[in-house]
Amino acid sequence: MTQYPPVPSYYAATANEAPRRPALQGQIQADVCVVGAGYTGLSTALFLAEAGFRVVVLEAATVGWGASGRNGGQIVNSFSRDLDNIERQTTPDHLRLLADMAFEGSQIIRQRVRDYRICCDLKEGGIFAALNPRQLKHLEAQQALWLKFGYDKLELLDRDGIRARVGTDRYVGGAIDHTGGHVHPLNLALGEAAALESRGGVIHEHAEVTQIIPGQPATVKTRDGEVRAQFVVLAGNAYLGGLVPELGAKSMPCGSQIITTEPLDEATAERLLPQDNCVEDCNYLLDYFRLSGDKRLIYGGGVVYGARDPANIERLIRPNMLKTFPELAGVKIDYAWTGNFLLTLSRLPQMGRLQDNVFYSQGCSGHGVTFTHVAGKALALAIQGQADRFDAFASLPHYPFPGGRAFRVPLTALGAWYYGLRDRLGV
Ligand SMILES: Cc1cc2nc3c(=O)[nH]c(=O)nc-3n(C[C@H](O)[C@H](O)[C@H](O)COP(=O)(O)OP(=O)(O)OC[C@H]3O[C@@H](n4cnc5c(N)ncnc54)[C@H](O)[C@@H]3O)c2cc1C
Repeated sequence: MTQYPPVPSYYAATANEAPRRPALQGQIQADVCVVGAGYTGLSTALFLAEAGFRVVVLEAATVGWGASGRNGGQIVNSFSRDLDNIERQTTPDHLRLLADMAFEGSQIIRQRVRDYRICCDLKEGGIFAALNPRQLKHLEAQQALWLKFGYDKLELLDRDGIRARVGTDRYVGGAIDHTGGHVHPLNLALGEAAALESRGGVIHEHAEVTQIIPGQPATVKTRDGEVRAQFVVLAGNAYLGGLVPELGAKSMPCGSQIITTEPLDEATAERLLPQDNCVEDCNYLLDYFRLSGDKRLIYGGGVVYGARDPANIERLIRPNMLKTFPELAGVKIDYAWTGNFLLTLSRLPQMGRLQDNVFYSQGCSGHGVTFTHVAGKALALAIQGQADRFDAFASLPHYPFPGGRAFRVPLTALGAWYYGLRDRLGV
């Protein structure tokens, strides 16, 4: 059996209280069985439960144990590849739907937080920070692109504008997305799980799915039980492992690492991020940071191919943090952790069906807090027979990783090294 060790994160240490959910024992029936209790699974399940479906979620570890409970907490609009790229890959009708959904995830999250009174330190305003004039030009183009699709909440910032929001001299300018923002990601997931249960949904933790037997109903097996369901949704993303080789072949788990400082005094927190916005820079291997609810700096970065221990993580990320905020040289790091997101070759998410009644969504390539919420709505509607949103996502091409399982890591690392070098050279 796979191991699911506790995550040594700031989020786990400050998680809201949650019930222990029993593992699955024996056979049960459901309309829909969802595999994985991250945002994809929870969002799908909650939309379905709201529509009156009997939903069972099976989670191998605990709610939010995967990327959804470990991420940077940044609510970022659009997708990992932007709409200009998507425009080249799909039809005008699908593009129109995808463009609407590109800005919907942030609203779904806010609505969930409001409707179910989820305490997750939600803050408004997400900044894209440019390290050089090329990146600033790219942000100007992004603003024009988003405007073309009707989104007018992205405001460009010149050097003084960004300096007023981020206390560092590193950036030549940037942009603030007024419907971006940030959350305590694990508390968002826990709140969504509680919302699901309030609607009659059932969650089993420590319930790793080991086999799916297709059919009508399909049978979803764990070590000690099984769910017979009319529909199955696979939402295991980077942690799905070898359960469905077909999904593994067209994606690659990658690690990203985060450190969290001790609480900062108010004056320091105010100097670093006076408006309490979150920030991601525009590098290919990007840094992302924000303040927590109790005024720690949460700083993440890079993409790493392989496991990391916490000592390593601090050595890896702390220098980046000090490049941005040298004044934190004497500040202690209280937490360091790693998590996996799922990369696809195109960096576009993958949504589809394995059989008529077995759906999946995966591979938001490090940009999934909003996408997973939109994906949940698209999957839930498809199960209800309204598949236009699902079809729009499913129209995007899926490519296998070159080199298969053996060579996809070195080949992709080589690609990342190339783009990282371009970032360092500012070209
Ligand atoms: C360190 C880090 C920082 C990030 N920062 C950001 C950010 O700031 N903004 C942003 O937009 N995106 C960010 N991301 C990406 C984002 O977190 C993910 O895209 C998103 O959370 C994926 O959600 P998910 O539900 O698809 O997968 P996950 O949250 O990984 O959930 C999958 C769940 O499925 C379970 N599972 C897997 N296999 C099985 C099985 N066989 N049986 C039962 N359960 C199973 C796992 O245990 C897991 O809990 C970050 C990712 C990482 C790792």
